[in-house]
Amino acid sequence: MIVVMQLGATQAQIDAVCKVIRDHGHEPLVLPGEDRLAVGVPDSLGTDERSSIEGQIARLEGVSKVTQTSSPYKLASREFHRIGTKVTVGPATFGGEKFVVIAGPCSVESYDQFRTSAEIVKQNGAKVLRGGAFKPRTSPYSFQGLQLEGLKIIQQVGGETGLTTISEVMAADMVETVAEHVDILQIGARSMQNFPLLIQAGQSRKPVFLKRGPSATIDEFLLAAEYLLNQGNDQVILCERGIMPLDRAYTRNTLDLAAVPVLKEHTHLPVVVDPSHGTGVARYVEPMAKAALVAGADGIMVETHPEPLTALSDAGQALDPAQFGGLMDALRALAPACGTSL
Ligand code: PEP
Ligand code: MN
Repeated sequence: MIVVMQLGATQAQIDAVCKVIRDHGHEPLVLPGEDRLAVGVPDSLGTDERSSIEGQIARLEGVSKVTQTSSPYKLASREFHRIGTKVTVGPATFGGEKFVVIAGPCSVESYDQFRTSAEIVKQNGAKVLRGGAFKPRTSPYSFQGLQLEGLKIIQQVGGETGLTTISEVMAADMVETVAEHVDILQIGARSMQNFPLLIQAGQSRKPVFLKRGPSATIDEFLLAAEYLLNQGNDQVILCERGIMPLDRAYTRNTLDLAAVPVLKEHTHLPVVVDPSHGTGVARYVEPMAKAALVAGADGIMVETHPEPLTALSDAGQALDPAQFGGLMDALRALAPACGTSL
């Protein structure tokens, strides 16, 4: 932690800052600058001690600002876990040698629609099948998903096709039920800071796929992951799915691809990109999926539908079977140049 003093801060004000640090049992490091002075506080402080010192110092006269120099997350940080984490679920390993493709419809709509989707996903070589049963919809009048019936369809189709399955859980009290039916628990963007849900999912033994909130900073995203890790669940996969756009005239969200190298540097957890929600437009999915591969992502999640025109949710961004096949071919061709394969 660095305390920057105001221009012209008096010696008495500097001494007051040093006293707070000493009262907590640490030795301050006074750093004289050209025109103002800073005081360093050791980085080995616990979170509560750090915020207590920060709070006390920020109130003192002559203090300009207090900045943190170490990351607020620990278990998620690469600093303490140099080797990248691999999360293996069935035939897919996130963070391993291969680029993982998760594909399937936004919502499970019927057994036939989901089974057909699964076949298209499998024929094209993707390993993980997605499908929403509980849907976080902006309007209560929109299709809310088939819920429990949807989970049963996912479990059945997963069993029939041998594909690994993933579906969203929206509430803490549903974690157990969703975990009984699918292989990976998805925590949606809107739920990224639903702390009771994170705690419950952290106690589950299922891998968790955590999507970045539309307005979440990288630190907030990694602190949400910290909730899962802190409960003992070390099978956490991060997903960048686009953040609040400057305007929605062209894309639904702004896919923050720079988050990929940033996350790879600061955390050991695997990073996946969702170009479907990231753009909201089917024809932009392939370019952004390729960009995700080049940026160093460990995989992508894309929405596909046997007949996008009839989709009950996110129809505009769903890839039809030909578009999905084309995307898989394009990724297969590009992967070797990125040091990976599909
Ligand atoms: C989804 O994957 O279907 C979904 C709702 O995504 P997000 O939480 O990123 O909006
Ligand atoms: Mn969707």
